[in-house]
Amino acid sequence: MSAGYPQSYYAATASGIADYPSLRENLRADVCVIGGGFTGLSAALNLAEQGMDVVLLEAERIGFGASGRNGGLIGSGQRKDVLEMEKQFGLQRSRDFWDFAEAGKAEIRDRVARHNIPCDLQYGQLEGVHKKSYVGMAAEIAAALAERYDYPHARATDREETRSLVATDDFLEGLFDEQAMTIHPLNYALGLAAAARAAGVRIFEDSRVLGYTRTDPASVRTATGSVDASFIVLACNGYLGKLERRVAGKIMPINNFMLATEPLGEERARELIAGRFGVHDTRFVVNYFRRSGEHRLLYGGGENYRPGFPRNIAAFVRPYMLELFPQLSDVRIDYAWGGTLSVTVNRLPHVGRLSPNLYFAQGYSGHGLSTANFAGKIIAEAITGTASRFDVFASLPIHTFPGGTWFRYPGMVLGMLYYSMKDKL
Ligand SMILES: Cc1cc2nc3c(=O)[nH]c(=O)nc-3n(C[C@H](O)[C@H](O)[C@H](O)COP(=O)(O)OP(=O)(O)OC[C@H]3O[C@@H](n4cnc5c(N)ncnc54)[C@H](O)[C@@H]3O)c2cc1C
Repeated sequence: MSAGYPQSYYAATASGIADYPSLRENLRADVCVIGGGFTGLSAALNLAEQGMDVVLLEAERIGFGASGRNGGLIGSGQRKDVLEMEKQFGLQRSRDFWDFAEAGKAEIRDRVARHNIPCDLQYGQLEGVHKKSYVGMAAEIAAALAERYDYPHARATDREETRSLVATDDFLEGLFDEQAMTIHPLNYALGLAAAARAAGVRIFEDSRVLGYTRTDPASVRTATGSVDASFIVLACNGYLGKLERRVAGKIMPINNFMLATEPLGEERARELIAGRFGVHDTRFVVNYFRRSGEHRLLYGGGENYRPGFPRNIAAFVRPYMLELFPQLSDVRIDYAWGGTLSVTVNRLPHVGRLSPNLYFAQGYSGHGLSTANFAGKIIAEAITGTASRFDVFASLPIHTFPGGTWFRYPGMVLGMLYYSMKDKL
């Protein structure tokens, strides 16, 4: 049963939903993880495997947040490409962050295999270049990856080849990455939860954390219970709200939207996209899409910067789809949904410690699949005594948004609208 999940293609095709109880007692644990998305689940599972006694509290349902609603594209590297990363941090640190993302991909691949998670993992991702001034960058990035990152799996595709991969006139060239992946994200989250439970994590749904003490051990409180824990892992991301004001101002919640078409039939789907690889473009408000196993088109496009979704999400996303694929004007939309992610000012992830016993990770800026899973893993490493990778991530400079949370940074919203307008011009 997918009760408690927003209606989406993922909820309709979910596999392995388990009903976890709501917290109605006072418990003691080594670690209390707050949030049941990729960050929280990955932290909980890795901690339990290291012998820690873990309680995970999720306000709604496992994978209810961005983790159960996203495009499912597991990209290589960070949100910024390696050329930008090198400019900002130099080659060595850029390499470190590239390697971290590779470790994030490996974490997902290994978990899928080890726990037999039925999440339709597929290989390949194409970045479609939509702007003349970006032409040539694909070849530059592919060369940099091969020469300086030991990554020979990405190659530039010219306009003709790109057109043969994706039936749109929008792309001037492409960058095809054979080792990037796609998954059914909700099924992956559900599989991680099942693995975490098998490893001993006590999972509670419908258990919103209302607050916690700044003590050691800390006491984490819901409406009907509490957990005394030596460590807290804060993994609420775009759904953090006002729970922790000390990190809320470092992220801006953004709503992003997706649709799933009716099944197109194998032939029409194949004409549209030549394989089961993921695709995204180079726009500021990125379009991303792929074929599902039943030959639907799953398409993400459009976002807003305020609480609340458009009333008719299908009507909101459809024009983005038709801009790239006008040939789909006759196609029925079967599902449309939205989710909330969070971005940081410089689009780099915000990972750190607020005190020796309070860890957090958030702000993956639309690149959360590999990063959230890796962030959970390195938080677990840090709590169990090996903080070297965590410390490198936590050293990234993350600025505070002027103002704070929703509604409190009109300047920032104007900035986002400006760049999304530029996409359209
Ligand atoms: C529409 C959409 C498309 C996306 N597409 C991609 C993509 O293709 N590739 C990619 O890499 N990234 C993508 N992302 C981003 C990616 O999904 C996220 O970065 C990632 O899932 C974040 O995981 P998380 O666990 O940190 O947060 P979430 O999955 O949002 O989980 C946070 C959880 O915390 C819970 N919570 C909040 N407050 C409390 C509380 N007080 N008590 C208890 N629990 C609480 C929430 O209910 C939620 O379940 C997309 C995001 C969206 C919304």
